[in-house]
Amino acid sequence: MHHTIVIGLETHVQLLTKSKLFCGCVNRFNPENPNTQTCPVCLGLPGSLPVMNREAFLLSVKTGLALNCDISQFTKWDRKQYYYPDLPKAYQISQYDLPFSHDGFLEAEVEGQGVKRVGIIRAHLEEDAGKNMHDETGGGRDSHVDLNRCGTPLLEIVTEPDLRSAAEAKAYLDELKLLLNYLGVSDCNMQEGSLRCDANINLHIHGDDGSKIATPIVEVKNLNSFRGVEQAIDYEANRQLEIYEETGRKLGDPGVHKETRGWDANRSVTFGQRSKEEASDYRYLPDPDLVPITLTADEIDEIRQALCEFPADRRRRFSEAFELSAYDVSVIVNQGAEFANYFETVAAECGDGKQAANWCTQDVQRELNERSVAIGEFPIGAVALGTLLAKVVANEITTKSAREVFAELLESEAIEPTAALAQIDQIIEERGLAIVSDTGELEGVVETVLAGNQKIADDFRSGKQGAIGPLIGQVMREVKGADAKVVRQMLIEKIGK
Ligand code: ZN
Ligand code: MN
Repeated sequence: MHHTIVIGLETHVQLLTKSKLFCGCVNRFNPENPNTQTCPVCLGLPGSLPVMNREAFLLSVKTGLALNCDISQFTKWDRKQYYYPDLPKAYQISQYDLPFSHDGFLEAEVEGQGVKRVGIIRAHLEEDAGKNMHDETGGGRDSHVDLNRCGTPLLEIVTEPDLRSAAEAKAYLDELKLLLNYLGVSDCNMQEGSLRCDANINLHIHGDDGSKIATPIVEVKNLNSFRGVEQAIDYEANRQLEIYEETGRKLGDPGVHKETRGWDANRSVTFGQRSKEEASDYRYLPDPDLVPITLTADEIDEIRQALCEFPADRRRRFSEAFELSAYDVSVIVNQGAEFANYFETVAAECGDGKQAANWCTQDVQRELNERSVAIGEFPIGAVALGTLLAKVVANEITTKSAREVFAELLESEAIEPTAALAQIDQIIEERGLAIVSDTGELEGVVETVLAGNQKIADDFRSGKQGAIGPLIGQVMREVKGADAKVVRQMLIEKIGK
């Protein structure tokens, strides 16, 4: 007997729009000032009417296209009825039977396994609810609700049950998050709840006689970290196997319903919640206040034409254009669109992809980590860094000297691009970092050093290759910035005479 884990993911993504989905309220994470970003529409007051935010719909269609989905030319809005304190209207405006997109896929590289294609059943647009806050100090009497989030545009992306391990789920989520970043449709800030995940998990248990049994499906709700998703999958796989071995309960047995469980991140366990409402419990009905949306094929095509380059295409292009390893390319592209753009400018400016990759993934990345900032806030612009590296590539300064200039540029903070270029030349000049490879300039010094070290020269002549090192060192101490390669060559020639 062996088993397979079967996982489908539902991801809710908050869209980066200025205003909410059906009203003019600002769409901004603002927990310090609860209930300050509301109006009659998102509070669900009588007589108020929703009007769809075009930008939210456009961002959704972009995402649907990027997920290789079919975009519906006719789509409508439905009310999903449920009554909780965080949803004062008592229904959520969502899309039920005619979502704006369906039948797509996303490909993700799974470590040590290759590319995995994950089917997308559908992506639909809906509004978010507010947030209940319960007193967890023990009293339990002090509950609040913040309706700032009510009506925020949410894109729900539902996969086929195609995932077979926690690693595959993680790879899919990483690639999805990266794609959303490139598209610019969400900030995907998981701490602020901009990206939340539900996982549908069950097991297929294969008997030695070729039989196959499925365990009841469990939906783990509101996983707000990818680590949590991975842990919940592994935890559920073990738990469901144990329960199956104890009870033999399987999918399709009378009385077996989909179970909803929560995730306790502190104890790393799932815990039982209410059993899942069937769709009929939500009493979906078409929203009479909102007109359906129609799109022509030309309109869809126009959105498709304006799409950005996707991460997968960019990986392909970078490996070809800059002759980089798959690993280097992934490190760069997976940092996000802004970082990849930065790299591309540096590489174009210095003309050496490998050099640019080394600096971006090591020196720049280290500084970003230390400062906890994104590349957009990095004080050295891409053109400035590229110009500096071009000098290394042209052998005008050494890598070590370039690091000195880099460090000094960093200290001067937020410099103007043009000023930065002048500053690079100035630092090189002031510190005497320019490589001296002019043999005429080195000639005298090389001769003086040789004259004072006849013994070492003899040693080298008699075959001690290592003897030349101290001689090079002496010349370089005399002429700051001397090109070690040129000095070495001159010494060998002179000793040989
Ligand atoms: Zn509002
Ligand atoms: Mn939803």
